[in-house]
Amino acid sequence: MDFNYIWNDTMKVLSSEIPEHAISAWFEPIKAVGMSNGTIIIEVPNKFSCDWIDTHYKEELLKALNKNGNDQISYRLKVSTSSLKEDPPSGFSIQKRNKRPIYQNNLNNQYQFKNYIEGSNNEFAKNAALAVANKPGENNFNPLILYGGVGLGKTHLMHAIGNMVIERKPDLRVVIITSEKFTLDFVNSLRKNKTIEFAQQYRTADILLIDDIQFFRGKEQTQEQFFHTFNVLYQSGKQIVMTADKFPAEMKGLQSRLISRFQSGLSADIQPPNFELRVAILLEKAEQNGLSLDYNVIEFIAKHIKKNVRDLEGTIIRILAKSSLMNREIDFTLVKEVVRERLGSSFSSDINAEAIVKTVSERLNIAEKLIVGKSRKVEIVQARQMSMYLCRSLMGTSLSNIGVFFGGRDHTTVMHAIKKIRKKYYENRRIKHLVDNIKKELDDIS
Ligand code: ADP
Ligand code: MG
Repeated sequence: MDFNYIWNDTMKVLSSEIPEHAISAWFEPIKAVGMSNGTIIIEVPNKFSCDWIDTHYKEELLKALNKNGNDQISYRLKVSTSSLKEDPPSGFSIQKRNKRPIYQNNLNNQYQFKNYIEGSNNEFAKNAALAVANKPGENNFNPLILYGGVGLGKTHLMHAIGNMVIERKPDLRVVIITSEKFTLDFVNSLRKNKTIEFAQQYRTADILLIDDIQFFRGKEQTQEQFFHTFNVLYQSGKQIVMTADKFPAEMKGLQSRLISRFQSGLSADIQPPNFELRVAILLEKAEQNGLSLDYNVIEFIAKHIKKNVRDLEGTIIRILAKSSLMNREIDFTLVKEVVRERLGSSFSSDINAEAIVKTVSERLNIAEKLIVGKSRKVEIVQARQMSMYLCRSLMGTSLSNIGVFFGGRDHTTVMHAIKKIRKKYYENRRIKHLVDNIKKELDDIS
């Protein structure tokens, strides 16, 4: 096997294993000069780097040389007698890379993997994105297409890929653009006779991230241009990541040759967040905004704002804005107002205290009038406390109003009841199960 080929491969492995600074200090200045009997001869510039590599990187180097696990290749370091200024072997891109400028890009550094909250709806997409960010172009996920509805985090993930790539390899050229901007720039380049420059800008990318490709719909000439860009990058092993609102094969108005190219990679969908993820996202976004919200408020928002993450975020911002602009305390009334505003006519909640007591009564087989009455019998007290807890967590009713409804009790009694059930909820599986079921049942009627 050609030693240049082996060495190129080895350098690739090494550069993913060893920090960038070490690569540039020790490995970029060296080169393979030959091979004999399974030993690759590597020329190093001086005795010092020869010793250094041998003592510090022996293991990594052997491992990288034998990345297929066959342990057949060893190496010998040889101090160079000639100057090493001549060109590196062809294809040895790492040596050339350092001479490149650090590229400008339009990455939003707020969008990172570390602040992307994972749930069952998005974990596949997130893991695919991570795999691509770790090894752009060197996996079977090329192109990677992240698809799904509005506000589910596609753009966030795509920027996270770009951010991670430039953090690790700042000299890689990451190009990120929306398909609208791509179209606009292309049309302008036509107008100004600058299509060659236009093409060059994209075709020299190491990784091309292109957002919302559904906007290419019906734009034949732009698609044509994109098709060529795609091919050039793809053929030279450069990573392409796209986002779309639909599964590629279902995208109307895109040329079938584009669609079939897209299908050679990986498509990963993002589904709307489930309840638990909505709660997690709200907690995170509230914290990010320095807003502390009661758990029952969070739950209330998560229960009503279901469609996407952007709406959840928007709700938090709106609550903050409303409270600071109108100088109002953030309480359940304010939160409810905001949620109602955001949902408009689709906001509905038919849950009321009567419905709660009725459901608890049916579940526990205790008459409604006993629940709202004065009895001190243990199981009746528990049913009452549970009803109070549900009134608070599902409707956010004030403690004193709950007290009034349950036979004129004062707010400290109500508070005690709520705390008690909350504690049991976390400690006692039977209670948790019961409360969850009652909530679910009430959910269905609202
Ligand atoms: P899309 O591109 O799918 O329409 P975005 O990526 O623009 O959605 O996401 C909308 C907003 O929601 C962004 O502010 C983003 O940071 C946030 N977001 C979406 N999904 C998540 C998530 N899983 N964790 C944290 N924030 C998220
Ligand atoms: Mg987007």
